[in-house]
Amino acid sequence: MSLPPHSSSLPLSILQEVFGYSAFRGAQADIVDHVVAAGDALVLMPTGGGKSLCYQIPAIARHRAGHGVTVVVSPLIALMHDQVGALEEAGVHAAFLNSTLSNEQASQVERDMMSGRLVMLYAAPERVTNLRFLAQLDSLYERGLLSLFAIDEAHCVSQWGHDFRSEYLALSLLHERYPEVPRIALTATADDLTRADIIERLRLEDARVFISSFDRPNIRYAIVEKDSKPREQLLRFIQDEHSDEAGVVYCQSRKKVDETADWLAAEGIKALPYHAGLDAAVRQRHQDRFLREDSIVMVATVAFGMGIDKPDVRFVAHLDLPKNIESYYQETGRAGRDGAPADAWMTYGLADVVNQRRMIDESPAGEEFKKGQRGKLDALLALAEATDCRRVRLLSYFGEAYAGGHRLSCGNCDNCLQPPATWDATEAARKLLSCIYRFHQNGGQRFGAGHLIDVLRGKLTDKVTQYGHQTLSTWAIGAELPETQWRAVLRQLIALGHVFTEGEYMTLALADSARAVLKGEVQLLLRVPSAAPKKGRLTRGSKPSAGSRSAAPLDLDEAAQARFEQLKAWRAEVAKEHSLPAYVIFQNVTLAEMARQQPQSLDELGQISGVGAKKLEAYGREILRVLGEA
Ligand code: ADP
Ligand code: ZN
Repeated sequence: MSLPPHSSSLPLSILQEVFGYSAFRGAQADIVDHVVAAGDALVLMPTGGGKSLCYQIPAIARHRAGHGVTVVVSPLIALMHDQVGALEEAGVHAAFLNSTLSNEQASQVERDMMSGRLVMLYAAPERVTNLRFLAQLDSLYERGLLSLFAIDEAHCVSQWGHDFRSEYLALSLLHERYPEVPRIALTATADDLTRADIIERLRLEDARVFISSFDRPNIRYAIVEKDSKPREQLLRFIQDEHSDEAGVVYCQSRKKVDETADWLAAEGIKALPYHAGLDAAVRQRHQDRFLREDSIVMVATVAFGMGIDKPDVRFVAHLDLPKNIESYYQETGRAGRDGAPADAWMTYGLADVVNQRRMIDESPAGEEFKKGQRGKLDALLALAEATDCRRVRLLSYFGEAYAGGHRLSCGNCDNCLQPPATWDATEAARKLLSCIYRFHQNGGQRFGAGHLIDVLRGKLTDKVTQYGHQTLSTWAIGAELPETQWRAVLRQLIALGHVFTEGEYMTLALADSARAVLKGEVQLLLRVPSAAPKKGRLTRGSKPSAGSRSAAPLDLDEAAQARFEQLKAWRAEVAKEHSLPAYVIFQNVTLAEMARQQPQSLDELGQISGVGAKKLEAYGREILRVLGEA
């Protein structure tokens, strides 16, 4: 079976024939139609929403209609090989130009481009805007063979995020130089400031803006309290919920990344470190293993993640608090691109709150900027301390009302699945604040959390006697509460801004707003700290919310599971031969469907989602053989 000589340039036919999918998702159809008709577009869609097809299908459609080459601007050279490999697997003539190619290879790509045979060319922004390359584009343009510009990760043009790349700024010249060539810019960053920046800096004032829902129904959010051994909490989470699955663990510092990766590895987890301090070759090797192997846990700083389109990352864990909700959402969004259930898990405690506050205080930035950062941190802390639905809060932060009917609960976050008990901590908070107040009265001295809690609980330490704190009126007024609970009260008070910490020893001081709490004017409801870590999974009982993109895909019975394993083994061989990640050949969801349905003919096989014409031709017989033998 081969491709018809005059393949249709209708988007839906291309979706079905080339990619093997039956229907467009969400806004994809509108976006594709708009761009095929040479309209400019700005696409805001969450990770996993299906941005790639929004430019790939127009690229193919316009190429088939004789418009020539689409230039895809992508920031990450290290990932171009796999992106192009995926297209070639689907039978689309694509290539990349970057420093990893030999001169000969590069010349070949340039010839393919200049002849207009190439459908898509991937290149980094610095390449696209260099003079030699622009001269080539000029020639294509004059001959009507420059079809479309796709600008991926468009938020890199904005200084607001931490992904800013100055080379992106030069991309505005594409519009000036090639006014008739449509452009589509894409990003998963949702906030208004970034959006406005993209429009202004890329000169997209006339572009149609497509904003998708940012809900990720298949991701389960959970934020747990840090106990004294957070690494072990993490290990339990991985072992109980995700043994032998791929995941990412974010830590704040390089040192902590190294230590955590080592420790997890010693505990039998396939963990690798990734941060900007590692040798480039080591980084690349770890990234490759993460993409190519099935169940690597990448322990990383935020340097890792952009452009990683591995679909089957089953969890993203945070051992440290991210900077703000934007970062949290972007980082957790890397889980579950394939639509199958995935976890966003974070452990957080008093020290996180204190550290993040301190980092802002000590940064050299201006006061105005710091004020903004503090506001964003407060929003994140409110999310962490929340006792109601995390998803509702997340979405409302991005200006979106949760669309799951009229319910204010999603059924797929920790708080919805196991509503936390709360206790009235108003009295305890007053005791705590007055104790800080007494310290201050009693010699103007300030103290940290440990000493404060000792005094509240009436624990006679050397420090207590040294300062005579056993004579304070607040001595032992809180003996009834355990230390963990006091820490939670203090954390909440810091999170709410009633208490702040100062200096190297992180001593505690009262903010003006503490007065209202002291007077009993503010009620404080806190989560009851979970005494013991929960065993096993939260019941996966309720389905992901309405409108969820897919049902649990890998629910296979024993026989199907065996076939699935056989198919995976076969796929691993092919992926190795082609030096591509396995998911580029077929995704797990597609293999699982094959294992479940056991197609008996090429026709039946071709009906399965994710099996396009080229892959059917290249692999169909082999797959039927593997299924027949399994
Ligand atoms: P993004 O770039 O927005 O993060 P991708 O383009 O990587 O998302 O798409 C996420 C996943 O969804 C991919 O595995 C892709 O193959 C799949 N996908 C996208 N569009 C469709 C569709 N219309 N039907 C089925 N699967 C789709
Ligand atoms: Zn919820």
